Amino acid sequence: MNKPKRYTITSALPYTNGPIHIGHLAGVYVPADIYARYLRLTGNDVVFIGGSDEHGVPITIKAKNEGVTPQDVVDKYHTIIKQSFEEFGISFDNYSRTSAKIHHETASEFFKTLYDKGDFIEETTEQLYDEKANQFLADRFVTGTCPKCGNEEAYGDQCEKCGTSLNATDLINPKSALTGNVPTLKETKHWFLPLDKHEAFLREWILEGHKKDWKPNVYGQVKSWIDDGLRPRAVTRDLDWGIPVPVPGGEGKVLYVWFDAPIGYISSTKEWAQREGKDWEPYWKSNDTKLVHFIGKDNIVFHCIIFPAMLKAEGSYILPENVPANEFLNLEGNKLSTSKNWAVWLPEYLKEFPNQQDVLRYALTANAPETKDNDFTWKDFQARNNNELVAIFGNFINRVVVLTNKYYNGIVPAPGAFSQVDEETLAALKAYPEVISSSIERYRFREAQTELMNLARLGNKYLADEEPWKVIKVDEARTQTIMYVALQIASALATLSEPFLPFTSTKLKSILNVTSSAVETSWNEVSTKDVLLPVGHQIGEAELLFSKIEDETIQFQLDKLEASKKANEAANKAVEPQKPTITFDDFTKLDMRVGTILEAEKMPKAKKLLVLKVDTGLDVRTIVSGIAESFTPEEVVGKKVTVLVNLAPRALRGVESQGMILMTESTEGKLVFVNPDDANVPNGLHIS
Ligand SMILES: [Zn+2]
Repeated sequence: MNKPKRYTITSALPYTNGPIHIGHLAGVYVPADIYARYLRLTGNDVVFIGGSDEHGVPITIKAKNEGVTPQDVVDKYHTIIKQSFEEFGISFDNYSRTSAKIHHETASEFFKTLYDKGDFIEETTEQLYDEKANQFLADRFVTGTCPKCGNEEAYGDQCEKCGTSLNATDLINPKSALTGNVPTLKETKHWFLPLDKHEAFLREWILEGHKKDWKPNVYGQVKSWIDDGLRPRAVTRDLDWGIPVPVPGGEGKVLYVWFDAPIGYISSTKEWAQREGKDWEPYWKSNDTKLVHFIGKDNIVFHCIIFPAMLKAEGSYILPENVPANEFLNLEGNKLSTSKNWAVWLPEYLKEFPNQQDVLRYALTANAPETKDNDFTWKDFQARNNNELVAIFGNFINRVVVLTNKYYNGIVPAPGAFSQVDEETLAALKAYPEVISSSIERYRFREAQTELMNLARLGNKYLADEEPWKVIKVDEARTQTIMYVALQIASALATLSEPFLPFTSTKLKSILNVTSSAVETSWNEVSTKDVLLPVGHQIGEAELLFSKIEDETIQFQLDKLEASKKANEAANKAVEPQKPTITFDDFTKLDMRVGTILEAEKMPKAKKLLVLKVDTGLDVRTIVSGIAESFTPEEVVGKKVTVLVNLAPRALRGVESQGMILMTESTEGKLVFVNPDDANVPNGLHIS
C-alpha cells in the first residue's frame, strides 16, 4: 500500500459561545476524525489538531448581555466543548484554545513578520462608529443589507445567506447591533492584507493546480470569489478583546479574529510538540507534509483565500493539500440554529444516549452533507441503528461469537477444505481495505462507511446461507470450516470499523480477545495476512454491540424539538407597539363590569359570531361576539367574563350588540377570555 507520510490535519476551531451540535459534528469533526484514525491505522505520521476560537465580537456581545467578562464566557464553553469531544471519541492529538499564551505569542509574531516584510497596507479610513456606544463597529457589531444578494440581515464581515465576505462599510443601511443606532463614519488606522496582490498566485495554485482534486463545491466558491476580484482586507480591529496589535500605532486595537484563529492550528501544533518532545516545524514547513483543513462551507473563504495568502506572504509555511469542506446539515427539514434552539446538542446526546456515540457517528456519516445540504431526522437515526447496526453488524457478530462458544468453547476451529463460496468470501474480504481506503483518501466518507457495512453484510449473508446451526447436526467438519471463515470476517470488521465506529471496534477486539496479542490485525494485514484469527485462538464471551432504539426514545426527542418550535413561535410573535398615552379621565370613561354568559347560540350564516345573553349585574343584554371559531356555544354558557358595558350599541347582521366581551389570545392563537375566573365575584362589579 502507500508509503507512510506526514499529515497535519486540522478541524475548524469551534467558536466558544455555545456547545457543539450535530451540524458541527457532521460537517467537520466526524469526517476529520475518520480521516485521522484511518491514517494512523495505516502507519502514517499524523498530528490531528483542534482548539477553541475564543476571540471576536460575538463573545464580547454575549458577555455584555450576560453581565460577565469575555473570559468567563470562553472558559465556560471551552470546558464544555473540550469534554464533549473527548467523550464522543474525537481523537485530537491536541485540543488548545486561542486565549492560550502560546497562541498569543505565535499570532503576534506572525503579524510582526508580515509587518516587517511590508506585506500590509497601513491605511487611515473612515469606519462605522456608534456614537451612543462610543465604539467602532465591525464584523458582528453591525448588520445591514448585503450588497450582493439583498439579504437584510447580513453581518459586517459576512453575509450568511450568500457566503460573501464583506467589509462593514459595504453594508447598505447599516445598523449597530449594540444600540440599534445608525452609525456614523469616523477615521481610524488599520492594517490591510492586500489580497489583490495575491490574486495571481491564488489563481495559479487553486484554479490551475487543484481543479481536479478539490471538491467541486469548494473549487466553485473559490473560483467565483477570485473571478469577482479580490480586495485588501483589514486584519485589525478597534476592540479590547483579542490579541493586541504588536506594532507602533496598534494601541487599543486587536488582530481580526479571522487573522488569529487559523494561526491557532499552528500554536496548537506547537503546544502538542512541546508536550510530546517533538519538533513542530516539519508539520508546517516541510514540503513532504500534507496539510488538510476540515471545515464547513461557511469557512471556505478564510481557509482557501485569506489563510493561504497569509502563509504565502510569511514565506516559510506549506499550503493546504486539500480543504474538503462540507455543505450544511439540516435537522428535521429546518436549518440548524443555536439561537432558536433547533439542534441536537452533543452534551445532551451523550447524557441521553449513554455509550451510543457510535450510533450518532454512524448516522451522521451515512447522511453526511458531502456534496449538498442534507437532513438529519430522528426516524432515520433510529432506522440506521435498528436496521443496519443491530440487524446486520451486531447480528452477525453475535451469531459468530455465540456459536463459537457453544460449539468449540470459544476456540477458533480448524477448517477443512474450502468450498467455492468460502474461497470467494475470503477473497472478497481481502479486497475491503483497499476499497475503503480509496474512498477515505478521496474524502468520500459516506461511501467508505457503506463499504464497511457491506463487509458486515457479506458476513451476515454468509452465515444465513451456510446455516451452521443446521449443518452441525449432519456434518461437524463442515461446520468448523464455516465458523472459521465467519471468524475471519469478524476479525476484519474489528480492524476496519475503527475509523468509523471506534467504541465498537474496541469492544469487538475485546470480545475477540485480540487487543494486546500478536493476533491483532493491522489495516493492511487484513489484505495481506493469510489467517487473521488463527486456529486455536481463544475468544471471549458474547456481548451485544448495539441495542434496538425504541419508538418512545425517538418520540421524546421529537417532542423536545416540537417544544423548541413552540417556544420560538411564542417569542417571535410580534408584540404590537404601545398606543398613545391616555389620561386617567380617559380610562374612567370605560365602564367595565363582571358578567355571566347565560345563553349562547351561533349566528346563522356567520362563521365567527356567537349571539350571547349576558347578565351584567345591571341587566341581561344581548352581545354579539366574534368567538365562534374558538368556542362552541355549550363551552361558554356559565362563564364569568369581563364586559365593556358602555360601548355604543351596533348592529351585526341585524342583531343589536350592546357591549363587548374582553378577549385575548393564547400562544396557540386561540381566543381566551380576560376572566375574573371566580364564581364568587358578583356580576356588575367594576373592573378598575
Ligand atoms: Zn448576501
